Amino acid sequence: MWESNVRKVVPYVPGEQPKISKLIKLNTNENPYPPSPRVSERLSNLNVSDFRKYPAPDCEILREALAKKYNLETDNVFVGVGSDDVLAVAFLTYFNSKKPILFPDVTYSFYDVWADTFNIPYETIPLNEDFSINPGDYFKENGGVVIANPNAPTGLYLGIDGIEAVLAANPDSVVIVDEAYIDFGGESALKFIDKYENLLVVQTFSKSRSMAGMRIGFAMGCKKIIKYLSDVKFSINSYTMNMPSLELGVLAVEDDEYFVSCCKKVISTREWTKGELARLGFTFPDSMTNFIFVKYNGDKSRDHIAAELRKRGIIVRCFNSDRTKEYMRISIGTDDEMKTLISALEEILYA
Ligand code: PMP
Repeated sequence: MWESNVRKVVPYVPGEQPKISKLIKLNTNENPYPPSPRVSERLSNLNVSDFRKYPAPDCEILREALAKKYNLETDNVFVGVGSDDVLAVAFLTYFNSKKPILFPDVTYSFYDVWADTFNIPYETIPLNEDFSINPGDYFKENGGVVIANPNAPTGLYLGIDGIEAVLAANPDSVVIVDEAYIDFGGESALKFIDKYENLLVVQTFSKSRSMAGMRIGFAMGCKKIIKYLSDVKFSINSYTMNMPSLELGVLAVEDDEYFVSCCKKVISTREWTKGELARLGFTFPDSMTNFIFVKYNGDKSRDHIAAELRKRGIIVRCFNSDRTKEYMRISIGTDDEMKTLISALEEILYA
């Protein structure tokens, strides 16, 4: 009978990480460029004997580096094991009422998994037909709001006025803005943290800082909201961040020039790719991220195109809800990778 006491969950399924080399991997929105050269330099100097000791539980060096970069104080910053960890702890911390939390019907598919895992009631708000978010839909009673901006997997960015409208309408609940992709062209909601105590901005090193494998995410907000988050973290696991992540994360944040140049390269490749995909007959919401969410309007099915790409060593991500089942999400790789993608698509579509 022990199983009747078990918390049964339907887990989130991440994009695959195949072991095959020489793959053009456009399925999990990783950055095609390596982290800052300062990161590898520091890595070769890490003292392995320090691994004997626990890492700093307050993660201060990394929080300090982030605070400096974003003109904040250390107590405005929280760090975790990727933004998935930060978001999970945030759900557990802030969504503790009987009222449903609100998020779009098409968005990051981990939100409903965390809500289910923590028994948080939720309501999904349908995006408009063109996948845009209507801020007015979030002006109603709720236990919290979560908006990915830009949204995933659509790639669409909601202007900062829209985010402020949601914040202003919800003084009684926490509004989490998940900015995993903000560095690829959008404006962050960070500027509102002094004005709205109920705002938590979440970002990650996994995309724009090329460090998905190190697992570093962070949240920024007023000191009070960060303290609540930190209290819950310290009630689960004091030592979330390992020592190399803390040390290497600092170097990645400090090398702003490298960060900006990588983001620019990804943006320019994205814009070129948009032109090519449109030429081939794909339509897509206008992405402000490092991926494009595309639908083919000709006589080949999405699954056929994805399978043919795979045969050619190119993997993309497919989702299967009613509103997403005709779409593929294609991450932005290097210029060469995207040229190979476009040639492969030409072959598949016109063969
Ligand atoms: N938020 C969104 C919208 C994402 O797409 C992802 C990537 N899967 C994450 C958060 C989590 O990223 P990470 O845990 O690597 O920081």
